Amino acid sequence: MKILVTNDDGVTAPGLAALRAVAKNFGDVTVVAPDSHQSGASHAITLSGLTVRRTRVERDESFDAIAVEGRPADCVRVAILGLLDDPPDLVLSGINAGANVGIHVFYSGTVAAAAEAVMLGVPAVAFSLAVGSTPPDFRPAIETCSKVLARLIERGLSPSDLINVNLPERRAAKGIRIVRQSRARSRDRYRLSNASEREEYLIKGGGFHAPSRDTDIALLSKGYLTITPLHVDRTAHDKLDEWNGDHWADLLG
Ligand code: MN
Repeated sequence: MKILVTNDDGVTAPGLAALRAVAKNFGDVTVVAPDSHQSGASHAITLSGLTVRRTRVERDESFDAIAVEGRPADCVRVAILGLLDDPPDLVLSGINAGANVGIHVFYSGTVAAAAEAVMLGVPAVAFSLAVGSTPPDFRPAIETCSKVLARLIERGLSPSDLINVNLPERRAAKGIRIVRQSRARSRDRYRLSNASEREEYLIKGGGFHAPSRDTDIALLSKGYLTITPLHVDRTAHDKLDEWNGDHWADLLG
């Protein structure tokens, strides 16, 4: 199996090395990742020239990678549509330092890179690790992610599969829950910085307003590993019939 590994925390991020270690249990791995930190980049792409650089990442296990001066989605696009001779069978994105649950999925470069793969016909899994007050330790996550990926592959992945996996902060998850993405509103506020000469606002707060109990946010915070299958199609399918029954026919005469 040919696997493309990417992330949004950048090519030198420890989570990327961890995900590469996961991926190499399953096939031939190519790493194409942003050369700088791109968290919150969402699904942005670069329309001007995209510079790539061949590099060697020195970690516990060093590896070759292609660093892209661009966004996470750029990495997947330039890999599949330019760099690689053949498309990969699977794209893995992460392991992100920080959960990507609820509406944060929309801001996430990690999830966007996976979504880009699915848009190009390649199944993809995004992995994120909840982060608390201490620096994240990705090493225990390697085994957990490997087990989850083995099960996903065993079940069979189709080109439309876009899977968002979040690991709890503590080492041993209480269990695994297949759950929906929460729509709970963010508690973020913007506050004027005292430290800046300029009028600078900083995000304060964090967290969400009362997420439903059966959602990714709630179960991850309770210590479960959550798996949420996502759609690239953002149509509100439940609205189609309702709106089609409405009075549009006469509008344009
Ligand atoms: Mn990130």
